[in-house]
Amino acid sequence: MNKIDAHLHYHGEHADNIDFLKRMNMKLLNICVSQDTAGAWRKQADFYTDLQMRFPEQFAWITSFDLPDFSSDYADRVVEGLQKDFNAGAIGCKVWKNVGMEVKTPSGEFVMVDDPLFDPIWEFLTREDRTLLMHIGEPLACWRPLVDDNPHYGYYSKSPQWHMYNKPEYPSHETIMAARDHMVEKHPKLRIVGAHLASLEFDVAEIAKRFDRFPNFAVDSSARVADLAYQDSDTVREFFSAYSDRLMFGTDIVQRDLSSELSEAERQKQLKVYEDRLLMEFAYYESGEVVNVRGKENRGLNLPDDILEKFYLANAQTWYPGL
Ligand SMILES: [Zn+2]
Repeated sequence: MNKIDAHLHYHGEHADNIDFLKRMNMKLLNICVSQDTAGAWRKQADFYTDLQMRFPEQFAWITSFDLPDFSSDYADRVVEGLQKDFNAGAIGCKVWKNVGMEVKTPSGEFVMVDDPLFDPIWEFLTREDRTLLMHIGEPLACWRPLVDDNPHYGYYSKSPQWHMYNKPEYPSHETIMAARDHMVEKHPKLRIVGAHLASLEFDVAEIAKRFDRFPNFAVDSSARVADLAYQDSDTVREFFSAYSDRLMFGTDIVQRDLSSELSEAERQKQLKVYEDRLLMEFAYYESGEVVNVRGKENRGLNLPDDILEKFYLANAQTWYPGL
């Protein structure tokens, strides 16, 4: 079955990587992450443009935009940059969690994703029929005490700056989700994909509520397979059949070293990491046996072929036209 990994950051441009992707029947959607106001992230855009031009069967990419600098022509400049990237082959646009959790107005308030400041950008994407990928918020565990029986323990123990427990000066998970929902509601004609199960990874019923409210909303599974494995397998399986047109597969593998600059041994190791990850995820979605998902044992979902085909391939092509 051909498959698309609809969310990752993969700098594998060596012939070994291309052969691997052909053997696995994989196409990859690379995602730019913008962390600044002055375009340093554009290095990713340039690299992903080049990859897509050289290997259009294996790679596509999603651009992003500079964080707000609160100058009067901010939105105009963003739109100009997006137009250029769409002309260069980008198939969508991403907004990251720093909106809602990090970026502040000159008067010191957090900028939320439903701020009217961004409306001209969302309206431009709607007119251009481009998809917005939103990574807004964090897993609920981000606001909870650090416990090791949780899929996100590793990330927050290594990245305490993003762990929001006992930091009341930061917006809550609920506030961030409300701003996101409000933004999705305000732009009903904009196609939106919520990255990482839309930061509602703790309960598929919460995702289902958004699907029922917002026909323009889908999610990717990137970096959240373990959150699914923590839930009851029958419940998750029913969720996949009820919303089979709204779910797409992704891993969120981050590999920022150019594979052609690695030694042969390092490159093989890096290929193995990605292959093991893919095989583990496929086993969870496909098998009816007990699967170990990043340390959590649970029965696989045993999804039928028609649902797998949508999840691995067709939904990404529908939600990201041109992929
Ligand atoms: Zn990512």
